[in-house]
Amino acid sequence: MMIIETKLPKVGTTIFTVMSQLAIEHQAVNLGQGFPDFEPPLALRDALSRAMHDGRNQYAPMSGTAALRQQIALKTERLYGRKVDPDSEVTVTSGATEAIFAAIAALVRAGEEVIVFDPAYDCYEPAIELQGARAVHIPLTLPDFAIDWQRVRDALTKRTRMILINTPHNPSGAVLSAADLEELAAIVRDTAIVVLSDEVYEHIVYDGAQHESVLRHPELAARSIVVSSFGKTYHCTGWKLGYAVAPAALSAEFRKVHQYLTFCSFHPAQVAFAEFLASTPQHYLELPAFYQAKRDRFRRLLAPSRFKLLEVPGGYFQLVDYSSISGLDDVAFCEWLVKQGGVAAIPLTPFCETAPGTRLLRLCFAKSDATMQAAAERLVKL
Ligand code: PMP
Ligand code: GLN
Repeated sequence: MMIIETKLPKVGTTIFTVMSQLAIEHQAVNLGQGFPDFEPPLALRDALSRAMHDGRNQYAPMSGTAALRQQIALKTERLYGRKVDPDSEVTVTSGATEAIFAAIAALVRAGEEVIVFDPAYDCYEPAIELQGARAVHIPLTLPDFAIDWQRVRDALTKRTRMILINTPHNPSGAVLSAADLEELAAIVRDTAIVVLSDEVYEHIVYDGAQHESVLRHPELAARSIVVSSFGKTYHCTGWKLGYAVAPAALSAEFRKVHQYLTFCSFHPAQVAFAEFLASTPQHYLELPAFYQAKRDRFRRLLAPSRFKLLEVPGGYFQLVDYSSISGLDDVAFCEWLVKQGGVAAIPLTPFCETAPGTRLLRLCFAKSDATMQAAAERLVKL
């Protein structure tokens, strides 16, 4: 038998797939993998279906349809005050996952280093390793999952090529402040370091706070690729559409990879989003209130439980501390919870280079009232 020497020895099946599978096997309420259990807006689904019936079924332009790039540029200017050229600075991708991979593949060379913050979303490190580069992990500081900028300064080497940030952060919901972006700008000033900013939860920020996009910061934006996901904003993670905004020179490098990775992304959905963004900009403006109501409802439902709820400034995940329920590590506790407790959750250890040693797990509240209720009934019994 041929022996395959793996290029990714650390990679197995993702924890999201594992937990979703266990949820099905054990008929658990699935608050693990992050996806809404409600539908995208009807007008958006109608627009998708119309696009397919109108013959928009062949390849889209490599960088995305002009109409959608135009809408993304309009939104970027309206929300973040940054004028971007839709032709040379906006690229539509097959989800944020593709954009992250393309950005890393386009910019990071073998032997270079990329700084990531733990817990780090799972697709970052494999993309870095496939370039023959190295992820340098810096743990976020508890309890609020903040970046210790001194540790970032200490981690810089001649080989540092990229700093990868994620705000609002998955899994903690932590958000970066304007002061954080200033720290980052000071660190990368006069270096060749590029910033990859994963902002897939850009429209899900709570309590009246404003999303501090890198796109608001002219100095950082000039050296950054900013990634977002229509799946998160429009409740359609299965359509796998996202985009990257970057200055023309960075976008040109990014597109060199994108054009051979996928060439282009799902055409009918691009037509649908272009139409929906133009007709219904209030969708993303109303998203904070929409998810804040879910967050608050979920927290009320869990209040009588023995879980300790951490603050949730953004995103659609609730971290809970289960240390008064069990002394198991988080992976073992999640396995127990899905099998015995009837609820699927996500542990944090798979997102960290070294086990964080915390007793925290992640619950997704992008769910209907009935799903939240059913999960809470099980969780308060523990
Ligand atoms: N980054 C983060 C932080 C995420 O949570 C996700 C999952 N939505 C992605 C990237 C990937 O997004 P997409 O589903 O659009 O590929
Ligand atoms: N982004 C989703 C989450 O954090 C998972 C996506 C996936 O399964 N790859 O739950």
